[in-house]
Amino acid sequence: MKISKTKLVVANWKMNPESLDKARMISSEITKHAKIFGSVKLVICPPFIFLNEVAKTISGSKKVFLGAQDVFAGQGVAHTGEIGPEMLKKAGIKYVIVGHSEKRAVSDTDEIVREKLLAVLKEGLRVILCVGEKERNHHGSQYEEIQRQIESALGKLPRKFVKNLVIAYEPVWAIGRSEREAMRPEELHEMTIFIKRVISDLLGKNEIEKVLILYGGSVTKGNAKNIVEKGNVNGLLVGRESLKVSDFADLIQEIGK
Ligand code: PEP
Repeated sequence: MKISKTKLVVANWKMNPESLDKARMISSEITKHAKIFGSVKLVICPPFIFLNEVAKTISGSKKVFLGAQDVFAGQGVAHTGEIGPEMLKKAGIKYVIVGHSEKRAVSDTDEIVREKLLAVLKEGLRVILCVGEKERNHHGSQYEEIQRQIESALGKLPRKFVKNLVIAYEPVWAIGRSEREAMRPEELHEMTIFIKRVISDLLGKNEIEKVLILYGGSVTKGNAKNIVEKGNVNGLLVGRESLKVSDFADLIQEIGK
């Protein structure tokens, strides 16, 4: 994807909502607001069991796309309980989140994240690679942690895949908190510059323009615009606020102006 004025907002529903009816309602309502999205494209990532229904509600939209929250990267079909990239593609999914901190916390090592990333890209889908430090300190260990996560996921990545790469920087300490505990935009700006430098060193200076960088962590309609503008990111990954249709529509409208 070439960086342009287009911004990307990813709605990570996590393990919500509690029913199919509610999933259908949220996705159809937010899709009805698409005319006010301006320069924003929205990716809705519901739990697997709701993907088919959400696909129907957004069908035909040029602004709203379907994403998956995870994927299985192994070969063959003898994998009880898993869903592979080919199945996701056939179900109409365009984007797949890999390496979310909540998956890293229970199972996904750097190696597994890389395998998933490659499996998604080989299938021709777009990948949203989540990276984020667990904590910040004055020694700057957060920079080493981010560099390690990016290098292990993207080292020697074939150039042809770069256009389908999105990086979501999500400091773990800022996820699931209150609005005022989101990262300060000025600090985010520094991290955005750092991430671009790591990508440039790894993949080449010309490639950096193709990679979208998002921020995630306690984004609300109240702080979204400031975070995007002062943090110098191409969009947002939004958890809880993405389930509140009216507030979420306001958030998107605000950053899409
Ligand atoms: C997330 O799920 O990645 C996330 C950023 O959640 P929240 O917006 O609720 O902090």
